[in-house]
Amino acid sequence: HVRVRFAPSPTGPLHIGGVRTALFNYLFAKKHNGTFILRIEDTDQNRYVEGAEKYMIDALNWCAISFDEGPGKNEKFGPYRQSERKHLYRDYAEQLIASGNAYYAFDTAESLEHYRKDHESKGKTFIYNWHNRKLLLNSVSLSKEETQKKIDNGDDYVIRFKSPKNETLHLTDMVRGDITIDTNILDDKVLFKSDGMPTYHLANIVDDHLMEISHVIRGEEWLPSLALHYQLYDAFGWDKPQFAHLPLLLKPTGKGKLSKRDGDKLGFPVFPLEWKDPQSGDISRGYREDGYFADALVNFLAFLGWNPGTEQELFSMEELTQAFELDRVHKSGARFDPDKIKWYNHHYMQMQNDDELAEAFKNNQPELKDIDVNYVSLAVGMIKERATYISDFWDLSSFLFEPPKSYDEKSFTKIMNNDARELMSELAQIISHSSDFTVDNIQTDVKTWIGKKDVSFGKVMQPLRLALVGAMQGPDVFEIMFMIGKAETVQRIENLVQ
Ligand code: GLU
Repeated sequence: HVRVRFAPSPTGPLHIGGVRTALFNYLFAKKHNGTFILRIEDTDQNRYVEGAEKYMIDALNWCAISFDEGPGKNEKFGPYRQSERKHLYRDYAEQLIASGNAYYAFDTAESLEHYRKDHESKGKTFIYNWHNRKLLLNSVSLSKEETQKKIDNGDDYVIRFKSPKNETLHLTDMVRGDITIDTNILDDKVLFKSDGMPTYHLANIVDDHLMEISHVIRGEEWLPSLALHYQLYDAFGWDKPQFAHLPLLLKPTGKGKLSKRDGDKLGFPVFPLEWKDPQSGDISRGYREDGYFADALVNFLAFLGWNPGTEQELFSMEELTQAFELDRVHKSGARFDPDKIKWYNHHYMQMQNDDELAEAFKNNQPELKDIDVNYVSLAVGMIKERATYISDFWDLSSFLFEPPKSYDEKSFTKIMNNDARELMSELAQIISHSSDFTVDNIQTDVKTWIGKKDVSFGKVMQPLRLALVGAMQGPDVFEIMFMIGKAETVQRIENLVQ
């Protein structure tokens, strides 16, 4: 049975790369009728940020990446916050000490700093492992009695993994294939801290085991931890899950990793929802508030590191779950292209229901407060093919709600000569006498009149459009006239001629 987890640390808002990781886990679970779990990895108390967990859940909900198990939901394997599982981890750390795979270390931060500097001055790097272990203050270099004395004495200690010397590890990653690691380069990572909390590595492995995780799908930044994680599974004698490390997200230029700070610098959000920093009060933009549809964002993110192997680019969540496979995830970094998400948003705009868009438009635009939503909906239907965001609607459609405030100067000078004035005055008459004001009738009346006058279509349509819209743009002129009605149409033509 496929069981996967998304395991964010609540150290800040979930960024777009995190949403991509959650999405790939979700799609993989759904594809295989599996279970998608949300686990909150909050063992690092110093980095805990108020509100981050709520933000993460809100963001996943907005994206419709729903978890089957997690905080407050189907708690069979729970609790799902590591801080609430705190009591579990010490035993596991001690189990590793008993089996000779880990040891107590009493070194202070100052003494470690001293060693580091000392090595540096000799042009070497200090690694806490078989190389230096014996020189440092730990239960490998100390006798059993000395160690016990220190512990009884209440001295601060951490528990470190005892990385072996001269071994070769063979790791397998579903995206990268086989990886070989020489254990001599690994350091003895801390598994358990003096504050009584496990580190990420220990808690992560223990929980993946206890929660019966079958596949670990996470960002490439965790690939360097894979060797340790393999060794931990072996040391415990547990079966390993399969691992898949997702490619990095790259800046729009394709050079360098996309960072949390890039959004502000480069002018696009890097977070799904707006985030207000609880400390500074600073606000970071979010895709939701910037006017993106959640399904457009999801569709866009699915293509960061994966492709279906066909030309198809538009995928609903349902279609993504059908098409998604980990073996189509590539290892090269995925370039983040903010123009592409605009393209997606434009397409998703066309698929939205006009009535719903009209509601949102009305809520955004004070001018529309008293206007019938059905009328707004018709207006939306006429202009949305030119819109990327709902916030584009007003500029594209204001002439359907109020007369133009001014005329585009260039067009006015070019078009408005005496001929045009005469034609428009006459047209105002024709229109005011037209009986049944439907799109078809208006069109027939106007075209018949143009035919009789023997002038070109453009000579009439250009000033007419200018009168109605104020510029040489917008939807079909006959539809505009139908929308605003006869009296308003006549009025606008007269306004132009005056
Ligand atoms: N807590 C880690 C993170 O913040 C989880 C990494 C993993 O999935 O193992 O991304």
